[in-house]
Amino acid sequence: MSLASLKEAVFEANLALVDHGLVIFTWGNVSAIDRQQGLVAIKPSGVPYSTMKSDDMVILDLEGKVVEGSLKPSSDTPTHLELYRSFDTIGSVAHTHSTYAAAWSQSCRDLPITGTTHADYFSQDIPCTRDMTEEEIAGEFELNTGKVIVETFVERDINPAHVPAVLVKNHAPFIWGKDAHDCVHNCVVLEEICKMGAIADALNPEITMNKHLVRKHFNRKHGKNAYYGQK
Ligand SMILES: [Zn+2]
Repeated sequence: MSLASLKEAVFEANLALVDHGLVIFTWGNVSAIDRQQGLVAIKPSGVPYSTMKSDDMVILDLEGKVVEGSLKPSSDTPTHLELYRSFDTIGSVAHTHSTYAAAWSQSCRDLPITGTTHADYFSQDIPCTRDMTEEEIAGEFELNTGKVIVETFVERDINPAHVPAVLVKNHAPFIWGKDAHDCVHNCVVLEEICKMGAIADALNPEITMNKHLVRKHFNRKHGKNAYYGQK
């Protein structure tokens, strides 16, 4: 993919988050990576969406060195880069403060899998990260946020390709996908299942979901014999 198309895809994805009502002011960011070139395009920091252009997207290498663009990249860039370095199956990362997903993050609980919409996209509960230490917060905070996300997936043996989002404790979610379009799709799904989950949890805090039904729904779309949608 050319850098111009990568920037265009990231620009469109950032605007799509606003269109879907997941981002107010500039509280969100999307990036995408070209794995062959090892280059990431990300939204610039604090630029209003109304004046933002595709060419404002900043291009960096995986170590965070800006290789193209005159604006400062999103302040969450070190988190995005840590996720790309550690999860080699992902092609795009997003961060939002969308209401229900942020509320679950602030509740400091995993989002339990209790419905088929969740199971269509995520093979299990969506994890909430641990508390960050004083040193992690005082140090390279955004980088350490990424490290704590990766630690959560490694320690709990979660495949990031099967669970394309995380709830960062007391903060909000990070979401990923195969590409920028898929990532935005997952952002919308996450917000919706967090909303459903909040309501279901209020109606019945003891709710559970049969693991056979979880597997049926996840594999219908993602297993090697996936059959959902058109061939
Ligand atoms: Zn944030």
